This record gives sequence, C-alpha cells and structure tokens, in this order.
Amino acid sequence: MNKQNKNRPDLRTKAVHTGVYKDSSYNSVTTPIYPTSTFYFDALGKNKGYDYTRSGNPTRSALEENIAALEGGVGCSATATGMAAITAVLFYLKPGDHVVTGDDIYGGTYRLFAQVFSRGGISFDFINMRDPRAVRKAITAKAKMVWIETPSNPLLNIVDLEGVIGLARSKKILTVVDNTFLSPYFQRPFDFGADIVVHSTTKYLNGHSDVVGGAVIYGNKDLETRGRFLVNALGVSEAPFDAWLVLRGIKTLVPRMETHQANALAIARHLEQHKHVKKVYYPGLESHPQYALIKKQMSGFGGMLAFELDTKKITPDQLFKRLKYFSLAESLGGVESLIEHPWSMSHASMGEPALKASGITKETIRVSVGIEGAQDLIGDLDNALSG
Ligand SMILES: *Cc1c(COP(=O)(O)O)cnc(C)c1O
Repeated sequence: MNKQNKNRPDLRTKAVHTGVYKDSSYNSVTTPIYPTSTFYFDALGKNKGYDYTRSGNPTRSALEENIAALEGGVGCSATATGMAAITAVLFYLKPGDHVVTGDDIYGGTYRLFAQVFSRGGISFDFINMRDPRAVRKAITAKAKMVWIETPSNPLLNIVDLEGVIGLARSKKILTVVDNTFLSPYFQRPFDFGADIVVHSTTKYLNGHSDVVGGAVIYGNKDLETRGRFLVNALGVSEAPFDAWLVLRGIKTLVPRMETHQANALAIARHLEQHKHVKKVYYPGLESHPQYALIKKQMSGFGGMLAFELDTKKITPDQLFKRLKYFSLAESLGGVESLIEHPWSMSHASMGEPALKASGITKETIRVSVGIEGAQDLIGDLDNALSG
C-alpha cells in the first residue's frame, strides 16, 4: 500500500526473534521469567546489570527490546498498564505547560487529562484534529505537547500524521502518538517524525485478553533517559510475569493482525448492506470519508469497527443477547470477538456533552473483531440482527 510494506517481512521476523534472551543454563528457546524483587551483587559495585525489579528486570528488558524494534524507536519502557505509560509521558511536562489533543481520544486518557493533570496545573485543548484550521489555531508555540490518537475510538476518525506532526515539529513541540489501535504492523508513527509512541499492550500487542500492560517507546536517547527515570521514579513499570505474557503474545502479532483485518473488512462490507444498520465506520471501506489519507499513512486497516444500529428495528440489548460468538465486553484487540455500547460502557466517563460532541450516539455499537472464522462471525451477526 505504501513504503511501509517493505517492513512487513522484517517485522514478522523481529516479532519472533528480538529480545528473546535464550537461557544459557538449560537452553530454553524462550526468555525465562525472573520473578525476583532484587538481584545480589558479586562484590561492592559489581552486579550483572540489574539491582531491583522496579528499575530493571531481564524479562521486562526482553519485552522492551522487542517493542522498540517493532516500532523503530531507540528504546522502550514496559509499564503496568496503558494508563501508566500515558501518566509517565505526561510527567515530561511541568505546571503551566499546555497540551493539544483530540476531542475523541480514549475515554481513560480524556479522564486522566481533564480530571487529574488539569488539577496539577497542566492545561488541555481538546480539538477536532481532522480540521486543519482547528489544528493550526490550537498548535501555537504556547503548546508543549501534542497528543495524537489515530484511528480514534470508537468512530475510527483519522488524524493526518504528517500534517499535524510536521506543524508541531516546526514549533519544536513534543509529539506523542498512541498507536494502540493499529499496532506497529499497520502504522509507524516514527516514520512521520513522532517523538514518542505509546501503547496499551493490553490490546493487540499482547492480543490474548489475559494481561494489562503498556509501553512508552522513545524516538531519541534524551527522551529515553528522562522516560526511564520517570517510569522508575513513578513506580509504574511492568511486572516480570506480565511482561513475559506480552512478549509471548507479540510473537504472533503479524498473523493475528492479518486475520483481525480480513475478518473486520468482511464484516464491515456485510454490515454496510444490512437493512438494520444505518452506517458503518471502518477505515478499510471506500466509503470512509478519509480513505485517501488512510491509504497514505496506514499499511492496514486494523480490526476495530463501529456501526449505527437502526434501533427502530432492534435495540442494542436485543442484539447483544442474541449473539453467540461476540461477548458483550469492554476492551479490544484480543483473539476473541467483543461487542459493546460506547455510550453506556467504554465512553460513559466522558459525560453526555462530550459524547455528543464527538458524534457517539445511543445507537453506536463498537466491535473488536477477533480471529474466528469470518463466516461464523457474519452468520452470528446476521442471525442476531434479523431476530
Ligand atoms: C485501552 C487503551 C488505553 C489504556 O490502556 P490500559 O491498558 O487499559 O490502561 C489507552 N489508549 C487506548 C487507545 C486504549 O485503547
């Protein structure tokens, strides 16, 4: 689709082989888990590179090396959750600083910005990042950070990475991209000049709905030095066992993403024709209003889609009850298909005015498409929609 394609075979190999510290004691082919809080010194001032697990742990280091390689950063800190990663990054700032971000970012990020960091003296502008005029108006030299999330959740709106990052860079403003929705397989923010990339590894990177985690990936060494200091000082690093699970999950990132995408595209095309569905939001549909931009900056469309249900025909609750393979649940990015109601579930913490402003309605349904058989998933949806 674009120049990122040439990275694909490379990424498959990196996902499997990078940061895998094979065990020299017994020759295990996988990285051992080191469940230890501390590491003994051979002599004063002499250890094997690790002293205390909050600051560093070999299992976590293996994961960090792997994620840094996939994103193309110079280093990575693996954190306890995605929110822990985002919290750490906000601590690059100090009271009085200003952040520009989208009005349709992840609900938990919105809450952290609006209800926690605002009280610490940091100010935020939540703007429509698809509108170049709003972007130019908001991104002035006053801003210290631009926070980008693309595609957005749940309506899959796209932010122009080259345009927005380019503008911020020309004013020497730090740019951060939350790349959770596409994973480095389908989108590489560093190629567009981003300074920092964050992930909720809870989602596609781990991919098996069995752990929560996050990652901060650094675009240069200075950012890495400060970031590692912050993650250690704040105490938000990831536990060794959780790091091990994410490292295991990442090895199958590429085949999982391919299947998520193929299934999501098939479902989106099918729903677009369904008489009980009013509208479908999916970056892989030619009907997406930003399809040209999508082709330019993404090398795939991902596994998330949303649609507007015709609630005169069927209510969300009726739909959810009739489904067999789609569990009614928040979160996303796992091998199993999930479905949910953003208005009352994942995005409820935004409050009604912000929900309305971002275009989410009581009829919006969000789907995290899993890797099951596409025909089974389509059949399940058809059956449930028709009643
Ligand atoms: C889930 C999510 C987060 C938060 O991650 P947690 O692991 O739940 O703390 C942040 N950003 C995006 C885009 C997410 O989907």
